[in-house]
Amino acid sequence: MNSMPALFGSMVFNDAIMRERLPKETYRALKRTMDSGKKLDVNVANVVANAMKDWAVEKGVTHFTHWFQPMTGITAEKHDSFISPAADGTVIMEFSGKELVKGEPDASSFPSGGLRATFEARGYTAWDPTAYAFIKDNTLCIPTVFYSYSGEALDKKTPLMRSMEELNRQAMRILKLFGHEDVTRVITTVGPEQEYFLIDKALYEQRKDLIFCGRTLFGAKPPKGQEMEDHYFGAIKPRVAAYMKELNEELWKLGILAKTEHNEVAPAQHELAPIFTNTNTATDHNQLTMEIMKKVAAHHGLVCLLHEKPFAGINGSGKHNNWSLSTNTGLNLLEPGDSPKDNAQFLLFLASVIKAVDEYQDLLRISVASAGNDHRLGANEAPPAVVSIFLGDELTDILEAIEKGESYDSKSREEMKVGVHVIPRFAKDTTDRNRTSPFAFTGNKFEFRMLGSTFSISGPNIVLNTIVAEALAQFADVLESASDFQAAMHDLVRDTIKAHKRIIFNGNGYADEWIKEAESRGLLNLKTTSDALPCFVSEKNVSLFTKHGIFTETEIHSRYEILLENYCKTINIEVLSMLDMVKKDILPAVSAYVKDLSKTALQKKALSAEIDCSVETDLVAKISTLSAALYKNTEALENALLAGKNAVDSQAEANYYTHTLLPAMQEVRIPADELETIVGEKYWPFPTYGKLLYNI
Ligand code: ADP
Ligand code: MG
Repeated sequence: MNSMPALFGSMVFNDAIMRERLPKETYRALKRTMDSGKKLDVNVANVVANAMKDWAVEKGVTHFTHWFQPMTGITAEKHDSFISPAADGTVIMEFSGKELVKGEPDASSFPSGGLRATFEARGYTAWDPTAYAFIKDNTLCIPTVFYSYSGEALDKKTPLMRSMEELNRQAMRILKLFGHEDVTRVITTVGPEQEYFLIDKALYEQRKDLIFCGRTLFGAKPPKGQEMEDHYFGAIKPRVAAYMKELNEELWKLGILAKTEHNEVAPAQHELAPIFTNTNTATDHNQLTMEIMKKVAAHHGLVCLLHEKPFAGINGSGKHNNWSLSTNTGLNLLEPGDSPKDNAQFLLFLASVIKAVDEYQDLLRISVASAGNDHRLGANEAPPAVVSIFLGDELTDILEAIEKGESYDSKSREEMKVGVHVIPRFAKDTTDRNRTSPFAFTGNKFEFRMLGSTFSISGPNIVLNTIVAEALAQFADVLESASDFQAAMHDLVRDTIKAHKRIIFNGNGYADEWIKEAESRGLLNLKTTSDALPCFVSEKNVSLFTKHGIFTETEIHSRYEILLENYCKTINIEVLSMLDMVKKDILPAVSAYVKDLSKTALQKKALSAEIDCSVETDLVAKISTLSAALYKNTEALENALLAGKNAVDSQAEANYYTHTLLPAMQEVRIPADELETIVGEKYWPFPTYGKLLYNI
């Protein structure tokens, strides 16, 4: 079992296993359901369930669970045993079609944003046959969707599947116009690159902030930060290498193709990239990847931090959502083609993305909004909070030529016509390397780089799929009724570029000048989560989601509430942790140091009045000033937290957290970090940044 092919997918009830273990008829019926979303007959479900159970039991599995993705952003499971008593007092292992298809977890404490009043707290899970079942922790996991008694989606998976379906529908309308008779389905593909930190578990356990908040709330700059950039792509340390080896093997067993891994810019930071797959599977896989990353770390005495900003002054962690569209025949719709016809189709899909991103900048921003990610976006290390598209100079020039009716090639004087002229092939490298763009075209896909490292990729992909579906729907409306397809297509691409070119920016996204320029272009700059979230429920966005059947109006409002609540809860926990650390740890530590300094000074004086005690007295004075400030600012923070309880609604509360509590936290941190630099190391109550970042 240790060769890679034998290992890969060995814990997945995948297509090969189904073909091997299911009767032909059952296999075909299941495939029909998987491909077309047709309802599954109960007899078929019974056969599938039994085959799944037999396969799992052979691998020593005793339990099953409906595995789902509630709006907490992590996955949930409730284990049930296969064991059922037989008449003769023994037990048999059973798993019925009914148990496979539907479950009713006691799920009343998952966030529902008011969707389930307490008297109707029931939530149901239903098997998603388009995702493979798998074995994790000796349990057969059935991927499911999660919904309320009245049918509203309570999870991150249902709307994602709806959005994939809708994008398929609209993209198929366009492909039909191009005469693709063989294509029956358009699929969105995603490859999410995942950043993370690894730190020593023993050190982690000495920091309440890491334990409660996943990030440090205090910590002075270490003598060496990331300025040397010597960690980036550097040699991987043995302990980390051992971790990555085990992580890869665990992921491979689940059919997750983790392919590349390297060190990132920040010390102790790393990245994992999988090979892309369809969005539904990629989402399941990324959730599993994050879970397994944490679990495997424990085997190596490590902790994996997925927080967006574990350390101030050191790069945070993000997730790059590489996204494209492809047909069931294997054609990547964002790959420029060789013939004029292929090019026209490419340009049309490209234009649809440009239009979508420009018209729904707010939704893309919201899809990556969280308290944690607010520390990254707009800081000098991650994309700004302004959404823009990087296309590279060559492609931008081509679009400009189309817009202006000029020639692209300096040798020809003919104007560039969509569907008539071939656009030149551009080298992948010329489109690739702008790391500062939030949304970059990278040759045959777009890379959405604003996601935070803890995020489920579901939300951003729901938005991407839906906004592109809307643009394609508008294109299809025009093209289907055009008398001259060629001319209509050309005009559509040209007009779209003209209307939406403000969203294209190939320069340095981290520069201050860009923020000014973006403002003059009329682009949105929704700096924080509380600034961004109200746009979720705007008329424009509600009508988009309801038109395409992605969310009902009620579902949108419930999600808006959950996001606000989550934001406030996160900061609330951070404030409480901060208060606790100052009062219980920092101030007592500082006092102990002051006491020893004072004692030393007194003892020196007792020896001889001539001895210089200026070191002790100076330090005591400095420390006393700083600790007085720390104490005062801590009191202020505590009062501010209490005052926040008076907010009239959750939006007002979130605004207050952003504009009053976060700055008050900063005021506490400043004197505390300064104290850390002058208080003796053995007195300081928690490990420093230097230790945390350079210990492995
Ligand atoms: P890099 O950006 O480091 O040059 P690649 O371009 O090979 O690397 O891919 C980066 C990520 O993009 C990988 O996770 C890869 O699987 C994913 N990816 C590549 N092609 C596609 C595609 N057509 N759709 C979605 N993701 C893709
Ligand atoms: Mg990348």
